Amino acid sequence: MSAACVLLVVPAAPHYGVSDMSIDITRREFVVAAAVAAVWRSTPRDEVTIVQFSNDGKRLGAVRVPKVVKSDGEWRRQLSGESFHITRQAGTERAFSGAYWNLHDKGLFRCICCDTALFSSAVKFDSGTGWPSFWEPIAEENVHHGTPSSGATDSEVTCRRCDAHLGDLFNDGPKPTGLRYCIDSVALKFVK
Ligand SMILES: [Zn+2]
Repeated sequence: MSAACVLLVVPAAPHYGVSDMSIDITRREFVVAAAVAAVWRSTPRDEVTIVQFSNDGKRLGAVRVPKVVKSDGEWRRQLSGESFHITRQAGTERAFSGAYWNLHDKGLFRCICCDTALFSSAVKFDSGTGWPSFWEPIAEENVHHGTPSSGATDSEVTCRRCDAHLGDLFNDGPKPTGLRYCIDSVALKFVK
């Protein structure tokens, strides 16, 4: 039931006089507020299944978790200007400008917005494009993507848990998948 339904079914209090009316309105507002709060608490939040990983890359298993949903204002307070633009407004960082395109350390790349593990250094490769590139995600459950293509149309890669824009998926990657996840550095947080 939506909050709007609750508002409709709460009956209007009868009004007998000015003083009675003010008391009734106060009580009615309280009832409405309590009903809305109850519906808010009982409404199931959107949930997703993701696979959790420890910082040293160990697979901890699949879990059902609520999606991370925040307002633009909350994201702006949490993220740098560039990370906000890329992850929440589907921007693209300049090639060869990010922190990770030329990184060869062993570790894990998490979502800058919600910390979900996204890629492992084990499947990172030098694509020559100036963006960190991977031939598969750390777990299929953790990323969402469109159809891989030779262009960037309909091939957006996003974080499953928070819908952050991460980059694009292309079909010109190396074996064994033939895929290239072309990801913006500022959408990622590297963990050694
Ligand atoms: Zn995320």
